[in-house]
Amino acid sequence: MKTIYLDNNATTMVAPEVIDEMLPYFSDLYGNPSSIHSFGGEVAKKIAEARQKVASLLNADPDEIIFTSCGTESDNAAILSALSLNPGKNHIVTSRVEHPAVKVLCERLATKGYRITELPVDSDGLIDIDAYRRSLTPDTAVVSIMWANNETGVIFPVEHMAYLARERGILFHTDAVQAAGKIPINMRNNQIDMLSISGHKLHAPKGIGILYIRRGTSFSPFLIGGHQEKGRRGGTENVPSIIGLGKACELAYQNLENENGYIKSLRDRLEDGLINKIPRCKVNGHRQKRLPNTSNMSFESVEGESILLLLDQYGICASSGSACTSGSIQPSHVLRAMGVPYTMIHGSVRFSLSKYNTEEEIDFVIDIMPKIIERLRQMSPYWSHEQTACTGV
Ligand code: PLP
Repeated sequence: MKTIYLDNNATTMVAPEVIDEMLPYFSDLYGNPSSIHSFGGEVAKKIAEARQKVASLLNADPDEIIFTSCGTESDNAAILSALSLNPGKNHIVTSRVEHPAVKVLCERLATKGYRITELPVDSDGLIDIDAYRRSLTPDTAVVSIMWANNETGVIFPVEHMAYLARERGILFHTDAVQAAGKIPINMRNNQIDMLSISGHKLHAPKGIGILYIRRGTSFSPFLIGGHQEKGRRGGTENVPSIIGLGKACELAYQNLENENGYIKSLRDRLEDGLINKIPRCKVNGHRQKRLPNTSNMSFESVEGESILLLLDQYGICASSGSACTSGSIQPSHVLRAMGVPYTMIHGSVRFSLSKYNTEEEIDFVIDIMPKIIERLRQMSPYWSHEQTACTGV
C-alpha cells in the first residue's frame, strides 16, 4: 500500500538532495571541525557554508546563527537566557497556544516564582494586539510568541509584536519552527531578538535545530562546555545534520514561492473537496492568516482518533487535535483556547502537506473521507441523522 503522508507539521521526509549532501560526512569526511589539521578544517569549512545557507533563508548574518539539537532546545535556550540576563524581572508574556517546548517550560518557571501571562486567542486563533500591549510591563523579561501555530497554521504578527516589545526594552523570542521554509522570514526587516527553527520540519533530519540571536543581543548559553558556536553552545557539532540542514535551507530559499503556491493549491483543493462532500464540518483557524500547508478540520460527532485509525487503513497519515496523555484523550489546548465546541474538538484532524504531495493523493483523500465520516457517524450516539447541512465554514 502506498503511503499518503499528510502529517508534515509532525515531521517531514528528508529531501534526497539533503541525504546526498550528508552521506560523505558519515563515512570518509569524519573529521572534527575543531581540529587543527586540514582533515578537520575541511569539515569546518562545510559547516561555515551551511551556516551561510541558513542565514540566507532568514536574511540574517551567519554570525547570528547557532546550531542546536532541536527546536525545543532553541526555545528553552532563548527563554532561559533572557531570564538569566534580566535577574530583576520576573514576568514572561506568551500565548495560550504555544507548543509544549515553550508552554511547559513556562509552566515550570511559574512554579519557581515567575509570573506568566498567557495571552488568549479569539475563535479564529488570533491574538488581540491591545491585550498584548497591555500585558507588557516594566518587569517583563521576555516575550515568547510563536510565528505560526503547529495545529492550525495560524500566523501571528510577530514582527509588529517584536516592535512593541523593543519600544519598551523587552526581549522578544519567536518559535518559528512551523513558519521557516513555509513563509518568507526577513530578519533585517524586524526587531525579533531570538528565533527558533527545527530541521525536521523542513526536510532536514531530526535532532538538529537553529537559534538565531540578533547581533548585539546578549546571550547566556544553555549548554556550557567547549568553545563551539563561539562559546554560545558547547558540544561537538552534529556535522552531517548541520550540513543537511544547510542544504534544506538552500532548497527552501530557492523554491519558497513556487512550492508554497503549489502546496496551498493542494490544501485548498482538499478543504473545498471535503467541505462540499461532508455535512457539518468546519475549518479551524483564520482562513487567510494561515500557513499554506496546514488544514485543521473538525467533523462533528466523531472521534478524531477513530478517523485517524480508518485513514491509516488506507495508508493516509494525518494527526488529530487531541493527545493521548496517561491513557485518556485530552482535547487540544489550542482548539480549547479558540473556544471550539467540545464535539468539534474531539472530531478534529490536522492535515499538513508538503511539496511531495500530489493532486491524485488529495483526490483519493477527498474520495475516502466522506465514507469514513459516514461510517463513524452511523455508530455515533451523538449524531442526529437530520443534521446534514455543513456549518461554520
Ligand atoms: N515548536 C513548534 C511550533 C513545533 O511544532 C515543534 C515540533 O513539533 C517544536 C517547537 C519542537 O521541535 P523539535 O521537535 O525539533 O524539538
